[in-house]
Amino acid sequence: MIPASFEYHAPTTLADALRLLGRNREDGKIMAGGHSLTPMMKLRLARPGSVIDLRRVPGLSYIREEDGHLAIGAMTTYWDIMSSELVQQKRPGLAATAAEVADIQVRNKGTIGGSLSHADPAGDMPATVLALEAEIQSRSSRATRATPAERFFVDTFVTRLRDNEILTEIRIPVAPARTGESYKKFANKASHYAIVGVAAQVTLGRDGNCEKVRIGITGAGPKAVRARASERALEGRDPSDRQIERAANMASRAVTLYNEDIHGSGEYRAHLTRVMTRRALQEAVANAK
Ligand SMILES: Cc1cc2nc3c(=O)[nH]c(=O)nc-3n(C[C@H](O)[C@H](O)[C@H](O)COP(=O)(O)OP(=O)(O)OC[C@H]3O[C@@H](n4cnc5c(N)ncnc54)[C@H](O)[C@@H]3O)c2cc1C
Repeated sequence: MIPASFEYHAPTTLADALRLLGRNREDGKIMAGGHSLTPMMKLRLARPGSVIDLRRVPGLSYIREEDGHLAIGAMTTYWDIMSSELVQQKRPGLAATAAEVADIQVRNKGTIGGSLSHADPAGDMPATVLALEAEIQSRSSRATRATPAERFFVDTFVTRLRDNEILTEIRIPVAPARTGESYKKFANKASHYAIVGVAAQVTLGRDGNCEKVRIGITGAGPKAVRARASERALEGRDPSDRQIERAANMASRAVTLYNEDIHGSGEYRAHLTRVMTRRALQEAVANAK
């Protein structure tokens, strides 16, 4: 299939990319790895008049530790994230999630910024940035702003990004001591997209009880969500199998509308949500210990 015609721009500075986007607010689209935008254009689900390719813009691909955070540039690929020793040490749940995305070809090209901007309801990264309490930075020609991950995802393919903004950086606080992380997904066998994916972060107190629990769910509904009732059910309690089961059983309530398609009914996805939450919590607790 062939996309509709469009103008292609390959700016070499972020300022130029922002200027081009500002000039084409109506129908301009940023291209990062192109692994979601190109198929959307070929299917004519997206028909941008201008494509602004970020691949020649320097300084958008990096992973560094600063001010108690991991700072990750928007153009950093899944491969860079999963193979980064810094990420493996400081936020292993993020490395584990990147390793779960699609196949090696997609992981080599797809970017974390592209994944979050695209907000595919079956994308993996949205669940993990919710569970790890990331902050998403974006820039326009005039200003830089930060949005907490829990406010970023609005609906299917809709985020808080404005049409003159480029997502530039993801900031994730470094994990406190006695924290374990996990990402568990039940994947579509062909594409590897999440039918349901659950990310969990558990911090244990000195007494061995759960001090802080964060859970992000993807694939189940129109957008990735936090499972707050499950988080509250476990905080302050001992992470026994019984308590984890109880908390996991509440997770399906976090999704108000379930996706239904050829890959699974809403009822099936609700069941998977409970199962994947239990598995993610069990692994996060084991890792915290
Ligand atoms: C065969 C196949 C299998 C896949 N399987 C999975 C999977 O298992 N799990 C999963 O999570 N994903 C999967 N994906 C999607 C893949 O992860 C994409 O790479 C990702 O969703 C988008 O990243 P990208 O860098 O390719 O972005 P692009 O395709 O370039 O862009 C996607 C969208 O985000 C916008 N955008 C991109 N970057 C920015 C930015 N910095 N600022 C503002 N807007 C921006 C674009 O305008 C576009 O609307 C799969 C893709 C393919 C082709």
